[in-house]
Amino acid sequence: AKEPVRVLVTGAAGQIGYALVPMIARGVMLGPDQPVILHMLDIPPAAEALNGVKMELVDAAFPLLKGVVATTDVVEACSGVSVAVMVGGFPRKEGMERKDVMSKNVSIYKAQASALEKHAATNCKVLVVANPANTNALILKEFAPSIPEKNITCLTRLDHNRALGQVSERLNVQVSDVKNVIIWGNHSSTQYPDVNHASVKTPAGEKPVRTLVADDQWLHTDFITTVQQRGAAIIKARKFSSALSAASSACDHIRDWVLGTPEGTWVSMGVYSDGSYNVPAGLIYSFPVTCKNGEWSIVQGLSIDEFSRKKLDLTAQELSEEKALAYSCLS
Ligand code: NDP
Repeated sequence: AKEPVRVLVTGAAGQIGYALVPMIARGVMLGPDQPVILHMLDIPPAAEALNGVKMELVDAAFPLLKGVVATTDVVEACSGVSVAVMVGGFPRKEGMERKDVMSKNVSIYKAQASALEKHAATNCKVLVVANPANTNALILKEFAPSIPEKNITCLTRLDHNRALGQVSERLNVQVSDVKNVIIWGNHSSTQYPDVNHASVKTPAGEKPVRTLVADDQWLHTDFITTVQQRGAAIIKARKFSSALSAASSACDHIRDWVLGTPEGTWVSMGVYSDGSYNVPAGLIYSFPVTCKNGEWSIVQGLSIDEFSRKKLDLTAQELSEEKALAYSCLS
């Protein structure tokens, strides 16, 4: 039998955490034959609720779940973990300035970076979900210099999956037959959902989404804004932000990273830019990636038309500004 893997979830008493931990315990993230020990971290005001989640995990009698650590101590939470899903963060409350929210999150991510660096397993894979996800991940990278930068990522897979969902609804095809959409850039409203290289499996072979949709107008307008604003639409409908889809996408992100992407398929991940596609190096930016042997690599050589170029640059610009703001909070 395999040794259990320790998986950290921060903000585990929150909405996404509540949807995420049972998925991890069921093997959705690391596979149906991989035992896990869950490490759940939250802040003291949420300690009682966190303990309730622990009780439910025990009650669910998950065969793969070999232990649960529920704690408000960041060192205990980070000790020995091989996967860290960072969901905890300071939410933007009414009347708060962007800078105030950034400042709170910078200090949270700085502290958690140090704890991960000192106490996590070597080669720990980190996924940041809490917003501003890309910039939180960047701060985490800066303050955990011994963790390889390739191991620090942020979640844009939910946006990716939303784009697959929109194409599938529009064309009335199975979502599993649609592939290779791309989310470029920031997990924010400037992200660019791109279908220029996406395809659909049909009885007559693989067809480009561009050919099947035909309506460029839709692709250039409503498709993009629907994906960008889907989070807000869900808040409006549910009165709470998306949690089950965020949790499910976080599992997709880690699963594909660890177990690999299928041949011929790529996914979107927020990763440390090496300057590919003329995106400034040193930002955490969402790119199309393939994964093999536990490592991602950016898909190279895709053609970028003029419309796309502008969108790639706009979201990079926003990320550079966020980075500057984050640094100004540090000093
Ligand atoms: P959620 O579980 O709903 O969301 C957690 C974080 O994920 C938020 O930052 C949220 O950003 C972000 N997020 C990213 N993508 C999405 C998405 N697609 N849909 C929804 N959220 C997304 O928040 P809760 O308030 O329920 O839970 C947060 C937990 O974190 C609480 O248990 C709290 O105690 C804990 N916490 C921990 C802190 C720490 O570690 N120091 C500090 C503060 C809180 P957005 O807000 O922009 O939606």
